[in-house]
Amino acid sequence: MTAKTDCLFCGIASGDIPADIVLRDEHLLSFRDINPQAPVHVLVIPVAHYSNAGQLADADPMLAGQLLEFASRVADQEGVSGYRIVMNTGADAGQSVFHVHAHVLGGRSLTWPPG
Ligand code: 5GP
Ligand code: ZN
Repeated sequence: MTAKTDCLFCGIASGDIPADIVLRDEHLLSFRDINPQAPVHVLVIPVAHYSNAGQLADADPMLAGQLLEFASRVADQEGVSGYRIVMNTGADAGQSVFHVHAHVLGGRSLTWPPG
């Protein structure tokens, strides 16, 4: 799957839109969320455009697994003692950018369910 012209995160992946990059490799990219909900709040995306977690997992399950591994590398690099990985899927679950992304949240006490 290639870049989608009207997609914000495709724009970040291509470098057209600036972002505070944390880690990148050929297929995956991570950058700091513009509106952080925790001291560490990093987004992990595949460079290729998939609209949500289900679409990514169906189309490329290996890349979906690599995204999880990448998220844990980000957390290790950020030095958090524990972290949460969140993938909002669908507008009803709060997804607002329809290029699949995992939120990596840490650096403060995170309870579940969120209070
Ligand atoms: P969602 O609501 O889709 O799960 O998460 C989208 C995330 O993207 C939000 O946490 C939001 O703060 C972040 N975001 C939206 N626009 C930008 C942007 O231009 N740059 C960065 N770095 N993050 C963004
Ligand atoms: Zn995209």
